[in-house]
Amino acid sequence: MEFLRRISQDLGVRFYVKRDDLTGIELSGNKIRKLEFVLADAVKKRADVVLTCGGEQSNHARATAIAAARLNLKCCLILRTSNPDTPPTFEGNSLLGALVGSEIVWVSPEEYRNRGVVFKREAARFTKAGLSPYVIPEGASDALGAWGYIRAAEELKDDMESLFEDPDKSTTIVVTIGSGGTYAGLLLGAKLHSLNARIVGFNVCDDRAHFINVIGNICDQAISKYELPIQIDHDRDIEIIDGYVGGGYARSQPKELKCLQNLAQKEGIILDPVYTGKTFYGLVSELKKDPHQFGNRVVFIHTGGLFGLFSFQGMLNTLLAPSF
Ligand SMILES: *Cc1c(COP(=O)(O)O)cnc(C)c1O
Repeated sequence: MEFLRRISQDLGVRFYVKRDDLTGIELSGNKIRKLEFVLADAVKKRADVVLTCGGEQSNHARATAIAAARLNLKCCLILRTSNPDTPPTFEGNSLLGALVGSEIVWVSPEEYRNRGVVFKREAARFTKAGLSPYVIPEGASDALGAWGYIRAAEELKDDMESLFEDPDKSTTIVVTIGSGGTYAGLLLGAKLHSLNARIVGFNVCDDRAHFINVIGNICDQAISKYELPIQIDHDRDIEIIDGYVGGGYARSQPKELKCLQNLAQKEGIILDPVYTGKTFYGLVSELKKDPHQFGNRVVFIHTGGLFGLFSFQGMLNTLLAPSF
């Protein structure tokens, strides 16, 4: 966790970043924390092939593909694209996924909505070939994957104790919500380890009601499956700020990219346009409305996503070319 002095001055709060973008190079980002537990289960169950899914530039799919290669598991990625008949050329995350030998199955947005069917079909294909398949849900966001961020909350408690001069001042942990597993794990971990902080999430797709439901379910399942000695009140404990999905999932607006550019120039910290960039834009906008709403300190979880930046070349070039 790092303190960012110049951005803190701009924002009027003490601004810290938890550098989960530095969990590795190829395995960078939040997904590896969840995969640590999910892939251990796959290995324990003697799987030969792991299947997972995501968007065209899924960070989760890339991390799964690379971790699978390290574990000598086959990997099949079910990726959503507007027209599967003319699939996109590999770039960024999909390039890395293909490079490590993952099989990529492109599906339409409609098929993706019923991905349970696609998972069944693809898994059956491997079973027929005599292999043992293991299905990892979108984002590894389930009760098992939640352990990644339960552990991260424990780590954050240590970070906070060693970095904060005045532990009594109020703290808000800010995190992006894409499939909900990171938020769910953090909330569970915060309760289990009595973290002295609010957890506020910004959703980058769907809406608040959807994620209260999704996150609430992951928490409930983890609590019952692992007999965790805590309770989660869905409406009170799950804090989501909606309103920053912008142009839609994985669609950026110049004002969001400018905000990302400002942080890059001031601090040399690079966010991604799909997740952390939108959350940071949301945070900055909210602080402009009410500078005190998050208390004295903000801990921003940088969940990674750098490779996704490279599919925004066009927009970024327009932003960078003139007037500089
Ligand atoms: C997947 C992802 C998120 C969202 O995490 P979830 O657990 O899916 O909610 C945030 N940031 C980045 C960079 C991601 O790849």
